Amino acid sequence: MSKQLINIVWFKRDLRLHDHAALSKAIESDKPILLIYIFEPELIEDAHYDLRHWRFVWQSLKDMQQVKNLNFTLSVIHQNALDAFRQIFRFFTVHTVFSYEEVGIRKTFDRDLVMKKLFKSKGVIWDESPYAGVRRALKNREGWAKYWHEQMYAVEDKVHLGKLKELAIRLGEDNQQALQAIKGKNIPREFMEPMPDGMQSGGAHLAWERLETFLQYRAAGYGKNISSPIGARHHGSRLSAHLAWGNLSMRQVFHYYLNHLKEKELSVQRDLNAMASRLRWHCHFIQKFESEDRIEFENLNPAFNVLDQEFNEVFFEAWKNGKTGFPLVDAAMRCLRETGFLNFRSRAMVMSFWSHLLWQPWKPAAEHLAAMFLDFEPGIHYAQVQMQAGVTGINTIRIYNPAKQSKEIDSNAEFILEWVPELRGLPLNFVHEPWTLTPMEQLFCDFQLGIHYPSPIIDLKKAHSRARDILWGVKDGKEAQKYNRTILKKHVEGKTVKEQDE
Ligand SMILES: Cc1cc2nc3c(=O)[nH]c(=O)nc-3n(C[C@H](O)[C@H](O)[C@H](O)COP(=O)(O)OP(=O)(O)OC[C@H]3O[C@@H](n4cnc5c(N)ncnc54)[C@H](O)[C@@H]3O)c2cc1C
Repeated sequence: MSKQLINIVWFKRDLRLHDHAALSKAIESDKPILLIYIFEPELIEDAHYDLRHWRFVWQSLKDMQQVKNLNFTLSVIHQNALDAFRQIFRFFTVHTVFSYEEVGIRKTFDRDLVMKKLFKSKGVIWDESPYAGVRRALKNREGWAKYWHEQMYAVEDKVHLGKLKELAIRLGEDNQQALQAIKGKNIPREFMEPMPDGMQSGGAHLAWERLETFLQYRAAGYGKNISSPIGARHHGSRLSAHLAWGNLSMRQVFHYYLNHLKEKELSVQRDLNAMASRLRWHCHFIQKFESEDRIEFENLNPAFNVLDQEFNEVFFEAWKNGKTGFPLVDAAMRCLRETGFLNFRSRAMVMSFWSHLLWQPWKPAAEHLAAMFLDFEPGIHYAQVQMQAGVTGINTIRIYNPAKQSKEIDSNAEFILEWVPELRGLPLNFVHEPWTLTPMEQLFCDFQLGIHYPSPIIDLKKAHSRARDILWGVKDGKEAQKYNRTILKKHVEGKTVKEQDE
């Protein structure tokens, strides 16, 4: 029996049905379409990922299939991508695989090289659409900002859902053997469980709800609240996870912002513009990673390879579990574990605390934070981790003092007390710096430092000056300056660095 001729849409981190170039092109081609998502064991086991990510994906896939009257099937596969496609080729003749270009970790890059080889050997075309404002194989940034704007102002890729309904094929309807072989193992039941309270769920419907409520009322106060660990949770757009998994395209967000900007009063327009500028930064960092993905493993500026930072397991456990003895750091790390989100300033502070004050290599922290951030986006993440660790050479080195930050961005300790209940009985000043309590004061507060809450795991002053002296020494050195010139040429348009940090 001859095999059916089909096209495939391979969903990766583009889990939506609208403004979807790959889907749109597949529908135009007028052949039966197999829609697939692959849960890949290699990624499920990877240190960058956590159950929270797979739940978010599962919810996004469910959401795509709940479109009214559409009733099409998206085949959810659980096996290695190479094996999945080999099985598909046993049962179907595939003309074209449509997908988005993925700017991911080295593991997905290597997987794509293997897939490219397989497709070529089978005579299958792989049509990859570019992601948002990111360009493949870019040599330098000349003209990049213009390109980004062109992409954002372009019309959306229309997806004709009625036609999709006609073309989408249902795997296994007449061939159970194909269904089993292609689908692989069962999807783990835990992927299907709801998110714990306080963690965002996935799906385009929820993403649109976030965008609408942001434009309607949460954006007012965006700028004022951006540093606050509590304020930014409400006044920030909170679109990052939806963008990272593609529940919304960058262009959809940009169009929605443009369409509603003029209705708003001036102060809110300012807030909205501040958010929109970050959409560009989102692509800027992914572009950087696309051009230089070695930063998943190596310092952007090799002059910093001289740093003598030895991994300390005791520090790692204390940092991860929010038991460092520095209340704002501990609150942030506990909050992150439970909710999958931190605002920018808190992310920068916990990273700086790890790299500068604990004097630790950035890589283990980068992986742990990736697994905790529901919005893990490799390009933004690794670029920011290195900026906050102070190893890029081109950015200002910021060594955050957690006690000072605490008084500045959580002055009434609301955030700390929510996540570090051990400190609830202390007068406000001591909540920020419990180590300053005298033994007598501890007695009065019925509190014992080191028993009820950890003593600080480092001497703040000493750690701060060690980091400052070493890092600035390297940054000001000839070697770092030499590398800076190459870095700027490759990643910056024009002559000055204006990389967004908050
Ligand atoms: C160490 C570290 C790691 C980070 N890792 C990630 C990550 O893995 N994924 C991620 O999306 N963001 C990351 N960020 C950037 C930033 O903290 C988050 O994007 C932001 O907190 C998300 O909140 P929001 O959606 O309310 O953003 P908003 O302030 O509403 O901004 C809108 C969108 O712009 C983008 N954006 C915002 N700030 C930045 C920024 N500084 N750089 C690049 N893009 C930005 C995001 O997509 C965000 O959803 C990291 C920052 C640091 C310091």
